[in-house]
Amino acid sequence: MPSANKLQFILDERARLEREGLLIHIRTIGSPQDSWIVVDDRRVLNLCSNNYLGFANHPKLKEAACRAVEAFGVGPAAVRTIAGTTVLHTELEEKLARFKGVEAAVAFQSGFNANAATIPSLVGKGDLIFSDELNHASIIDGCRLSGAEIVRYEHCNPASLEQKLTERYPSGSPNRALIITDGVFSMDGDIAPLPPLVELAERFNAMLMVDDAHGEGVLGRSGRGAVDHFGMHGRVDVEIGTLSKAFGVVGGFAAGRKIIVDHLRQKGRPFLFSSALTPADVAACSAAVDILQASDDLVRKLWDNTRYFKRRIREAGFDTGRSETPITPVMLGEAKVAQQFSRRLFEEDVFAMAIGYPTVPMGKARIRVMISAAHSKEDLDFGVEKFARIGRELSVI
Ligand SMILES: *Cc1c(COP(=O)(O)O)cnc(C)c1O
Repeated sequence: MPSANKLQFILDERARLEREGLLIHIRTIGSPQDSWIVVDDRRVLNLCSNNYLGFANHPKLKEAACRAVEAFGVGPAAVRTIAGTTVLHTELEEKLARFKGVEAAVAFQSGFNANAATIPSLVGKGDLIFSDELNHASIIDGCRLSGAEIVRYEHCNPASLEQKLTERYPSGSPNRALIITDGVFSMDGDIAPLPPLVELAERFNAMLMVDDAHGEGVLGRSGRGAVDHFGMHGRVDVEIGTLSKAFGVVGGFAAGRKIIVDHLRQKGRPFLFSSALTPADVAACSAAVDILQASDDLVRKLWDNTRYFKRRIREAGFDTGRSETPITPVMLGEAKVAQQFSRRLFEEDVFAMAIGYPTVPMGKARIRVMISAAHSKEDLDFGVEKFARIGRELSVI
């Protein structure tokens, strides 16, 4: 009988994560998502949620969800293609398409699933994907699932993309090519240079996909996203969105040319083989789109807060990297410093996460502050004051 523990590999891996300071500790939230939340029984200022517009606990969304539960129950009971598509689903998809200014949209259970459905439906073995080197993990997994060859280009660098396209995808190539970029990059808060990427996609006859998870509800008119921000309507083949960040609920979608969206309903495996979003999710998301269609007040408040916090945190002596959006990295250098900083913030009633290698490069550890329209100026003042105090205490400013 072999005596070795067949699960030893898990213990080894856990020991490695612990040794390298990469072991994840999960905090438990005991309140709705808002500007202040209860974390591990402590009431703290929330500076790390993706709840950009405060929709996660918005009365109109909650009311829409409750009404949907009354009318349609709690579960979808099937995948979309069998009996899981309610009128609420098609209504949301129509609203999303109108909001985004595209021909059609299709909803998925998450942004992660939207990528897993879309990328393998567009390219396969023998094809090429040109992917920004800092693209989100769900894009990378979608690319791997497709079986296409992945060619990484330098972050936000159209010259690097052009060089790779020239080398690998000369005109007359028999196979397909797909260029993929995040609209807004989640760790640095910088925006992809869409106009030159669009031009390259058109010149090389490649498909272009933008994952705008952090752009929706944030960039463009009333939060229509990165494509609207750059005025690139009709020139991006497909956009991926999430309903779990600015939209405040859960789910994802693909939006763009009708021919692609119809194709995803035939081919997208998470669409075909995983159950639909629940009626409550879909109705709440619909209410979020309605609010954005009616007014840009929340988006304005988000940007007002963002400018205010960034100015104050820079005045306090901190470096916010290359951020152009409400994602505000406060650069601290060493992972150990960032971890200690985050711990001290929590003791001072501020909840903000440290992010280190391998999520960001070695020596570029940071606290990632997420600004929301739900914050008041007093909340932001409170946060800056605590950052400044701890910054002096740890000699980083
Ligand atoms: C968060 C994120 C996703 C995943 O979205 P979920 O709805 O949480 O699954 C996908 N792509 C990008 C770029 C993201 O930032």
